[in-house]
Amino acid sequence: MSSPHVSVISLLMPEQEKRVVFLTARVHPGESPASFICQGVIDFLVSQHPVARVLRDHVVFKIVPMLNPDGVYLGNYRCSLMGFDLNRHWQDPSPWAHPTLHAVKQLIVQMNQDPKVSLEFYIDVHAHSTMMNGFMYGNVFEEEERVHRQAVFPRLLCHNAPDFSFSSTSFNRDVVKAGTGRRFMGGLLDDTSYCYTLEVSFYSYMAAGSSAPVPYTEETYMKLGRNVARTFLDYYRLNNLIDENKPTSLSNSSLDGQSYRQGSGRNTDGEKGDRRIHGNKEDF
Ligand SMILES: [Zn+2]
Repeated sequence: MSSPHVSVISLLMPEQEKRVVFLTARVHPGESPASFICQGVIDFLVSQHPVARVLRDHVVFKIVPMLNPDGVYLGNYRCSLMGFDLNRHWQDPSPWAHPTLHAVKQLIVQMNQDPKVSLEFYIDVHAHSTMMNGFMYGNVFEEEERVHRQAVFPRLLCHNAPDFSFSSTSFNRDVVKAGTGRRFMGGLLDDTSYCYTLEVSFYSYMAAGSSAPVPYTEETYMKLGRNVARTFLDYYRLNNLIDENKPTSLSNSSLDGQSYRQGSGRNTDGEKGDRRIHGNKEDF
């Protein structure tokens, strides 16, 4: 925790080139589900879960859980203390008007210039007021191969998380979104990097096979966060960047129960409820 405004969690084992996943949330202060997703990601990554251990051995996670603390403190819906929608100012953030954005951008630019760092993912977490489920926005590129590669992570996440929808995931280059974190990072980072906005519904999701929407709870938001975290291992294994033969599903007894919750003090009622709804589907 380097400052009250920007908390960065680093989990790493030394390697020649550090693979980095950068996650930010709550640039829009009213989107509180984003904080629960972020909490789920963090709870999982610092847990004793075997997947989390493998990830910590291979990947550095930089997490900024709240990009707009002033707006959150004031109870604003979208803007900062000074009335800015910070997610339109990534191109040229001012150190006095958009200080958190300026600091985070500086860190990312600096990491991107470091030959020992490979910044591979940037994901900015939001909540959506009209759509259901979790889904992503990505960038559009000329190269078809890059377009296909970009779809891999959301597809894997769709497989892991019953509430995440690949069909609602879309790729765009709207002018109005030019100042967003996802668009700016897509232009800054090279073609081996992936930049997404992760959106989650404010209210509910439709799981495959269910006939009615399921209202989201704090627990199911956190579960989506845990699924996001573990999907990185699927991604890196698919690309042969991690070859450890470790289990990734809840079917292994060592993955069940409280392991990823150690120290969190939360109960498991929501988890049990979800298993009932989703049957055997391996999810978090
Ligand atoms: Zn938002």
